[in-house]
Amino acid sequence: MDRRKFLKLSAGAGSLALLQMVGFSCAGSGNDAIKLPSLPYKADALEPYISEKTIHVHYGKHHAGYVKKLNRMIQGTTYANLGLGAMIQKTHGSAGKTGIFNNAAQVFNHTFYWNSMKPGGGGVPTGIIAEKIKADFGSYEAFKKEFASAALSQFGSGWAWLVKDADLLKIIKTANADTPVAQGLIPLLTVDVWEHAYYLDYQNRRADYVNAYLEHLVNWKFAKNNLAG
Ligand code: MN
Repeated sequence: MDRRKFLKLSAGAGSLALLQMVGFSCAGSGNDAIKLPSLPYKADALEPYISEKTIHVHYGKHHAGYVKKLNRMIQGTTYANLGLGAMIQKTHGSAGKTGIFNNAAQVFNHTFYWNSMKPGGGGVPTGIIAEKIKADFGSYEAFKKEFASAALSQFGSGWAWLVKDADLLKIIKTANADTPVAQGLIPLLTVDVWEHAYYLDYQNRRADYVNAYLEHLVNWKFAKNNLAG
């Protein structure tokens, strides 16, 4: 997609840097306002922790589905001229705009999730992000415990996040499509805890999935760039 247009989506969200560094190259048909970004790695790159089969369904069906539904909903409306960030902020909490909000937020959340992971990631971070985690949580272990607890205690579908709230790092969870971007927080990392994210690989064992994410998948460089941005 047009890079300028893409960057515009982040402007209202206060997360310009994170979307710049995501380096989206986008596939999609020409007239759609919102494109499905390419995955930042191959579909089998996160195995054995997240299978190629899960990626095909989760990215290829769920994420693509949110993009498709959103484009259908905004076609011919003024929303089609907004970036994704502005669209999320304008429709958040607005009765009658729930459909646009849900799909726009899910497009953002999923793109953010794919970029929160990388093959050979996870484990203890180093550098500035490690220092900030130590300062705000006490230790990496305390961070890990709180993040896993948020991910496990989210009842039903949703997300757990590491966010920056003003100058402080915090862990939050959001239900369904809700996103910290709508609350003016800056996301650094997220894990998707909708069952579609882990059920094929872990069935009901959400804890094992969250642990694999923390131990083997977290893209600390992405988090660090978001922190700096
Ligand atoms: Mn999902």
